[in-house]
Order: sequence, then structure tokens, then C-alpha cells
Amino acid sequence: MKRRDFFAASVAAVAAASASSIVKADCTTDEWDGKSPNQSSKAKLRISSQIHIIPGDKDEDKFERMRKWGIEGVELSGWHTNDPDYWKRVITDNGLTPSAVCWGSHNGDLCSDVVEKRQQGVDDLKKALEGAGKIGCTGVIYVPAFNGQTKLTNQEIRKVLMDTFPALAEFAAECGTNIILEPLNRGEAYFLRQVADGAAIARDVNNGKGIGVMGDFYHMSIEETDMMGAFISAGSYLKHVHLAGGTTDPRRTIPGQNKTRFVEGFRGLKYIGYDKFCSFECGVRGDKEVEIPKACEFLRREWELAVI
Ligand code: MG
Repeated sequence: MKRRDFFAASVAAVAAASASSIVKADCTTDEWDGKSPNQSSKAKLRISSQIHIIPGDKDEDKFERMRKWGIEGVELSGWHTNDPDYWKRVITDNGLTPSAVCWGSHNGDLCSDVVEKRQQGVDDLKKALEGAGKIGCTGVIYVPAFNGQTKLTNQEIRKVLMDTFPALAEFAAECGTNIILEPLNRGEAYFLRQVADGAAIARDVNNGKGIGVMGDFYHMSIEETDMMGAFISAGSYLKHVHLAGGTTDPRRTIPGQNKTRFVEGFRGLKYIGYDKFCSFECGVRGDKEVEIPKACEFLRREWELAVI
């Protein structure tokens, strides 16, 4: 083939590819009226917190403070799912709502390069999902692997998830809960660093049934180029949010204690009509009795400023 013919053939191939994507997009025009999918009228700021951040000797003391400060959701740890009846009762009896279970990677077993370890990872996650469903949690926050926990490549980890998660997500849905993928920053995990990537995995696994993604403002401040855009790209796959300031001093602190603003991210949450929980996962500098309610007020102001 002559050089000129080669270029002509390449141009034709690109044109054909573009035409096919246009045809695909055109398929939806009958159902789409062209209006903006802005769903801000449905969005709500519902603040939650991991229990250990709240001061108090007994769970009931912590819950009382949460109610007083307008924190309505309780984020649990993995071990709480071992006694689901107790936690469901104690949370609801105290007028609060369970949010998510922060479970992590469990040594990265499910995505281990040692194939024999993977079944343990599946079994552990199923147990957590069962407990989370009984408690009434939105989902189990799952990290495929922290750095150093697996030798698999990005492509290999994704394949393991694609092979394993359809059945697991189905199981989660049967339990009335979700697997919630948590993207981390590159210092903690090389696989799954952006919210859109997690949403794409949720879509590819089970089109979002029993599986979703979350956004953590701290990790997002390192990995995302646009906080609003990141949340919009997650859309209905977004099941949970972690609240923490970014990398300025004090790093990963409670909102309002460093320079991190939340308005832009909240615009994204409003745009997609997000009404699930935004939960504290952060340090607190100073007197928690003063600083936590102050952070709640700061977030409510940021939410008000987030006009679309
Ligand atoms: Mg987090």
C-alpha cells in the first residue's frame, strides 16, 4: 500500500469508528429530552461518623453527642459485623442510622497473587456483607489491595474482580447491601485510585446491582483533577463519601481545620442528587467537643454555598 493510500485508509477507519459511536449515542435520543440531568432538588447533606472519632466512654454517650451535633449516621468497623443484632438495636434505639462498614482489604487476600488465599478473601467478605445487611448498612467498604499486599498487575487485579465479583455483588444484593469500592491515593494503593474507575468496575461487574463506589475527599484531593467532575462521573454508583481535609497541614484532618474546601465536591454531590451518607474518617486536632460540632457547621455552610 502506498503511503497516501495508507493515510486514506486510516482516515476512513477513524471515520467509521466515529460514525459507529455516533450511532450508538443516537440510540438514546428517543428517550432523552436533552434536559440537564441536574438532580440537586433530591440531594441532602447527611453527616455520619466513624464511631471511634466521637468522644465518650460508652457507645450510648457517643450516640448522644452525635444526635446533639446533627450527625445522623454511624459508620462501623469490620468487627462490628460479628454482632449485627446488637449494633442494629443500639444504633436505632439511639435515634441514629447505620451508614457503611469500613472493612478494608483483609490483607488483600481476594486479589492475592497466591491463588490459594483468594477463597478466604471471598469468604470473609461474604461474612461482612451478611452482617452489614442485617445491621442495615449501605454497604461494606472494600479495598482490593494496599501496596505490598499483592504482586498482581492492574490488569490482573481487574480480571480477578471481574471473575469473582458478579456472584459476590449478587450475594450483597440478596443481603440488602452493597460492596463499596474505595479508591485510595497512590501512596496507599496502585490499583483503583479514581472514583470514575471504581464506578466503571461497578458497572462492568453487575451494572451497579449490589456494588458501587465511594469517594474519600482526602484521597480525591491527591488523585482527582476535579472534585465535582469526579462525583458526577460516579453518578448513581456512588454509595458513600468519606470526609477529611486534604494534604495541607494538618493533613487528613476534620473539615474546617485545614485549607481544604468542600464546595466543589458538594456541587458534584448535589448535581447527582446524592442523599446517602458523608462520613468523618479523619483526625481531629484539639478538643473534640468543640471541634466536631464546628466541623459540622462548616460543612453545612459549604453545602449551602454549593449552588449549581
Ligand atoms: Mg476512606
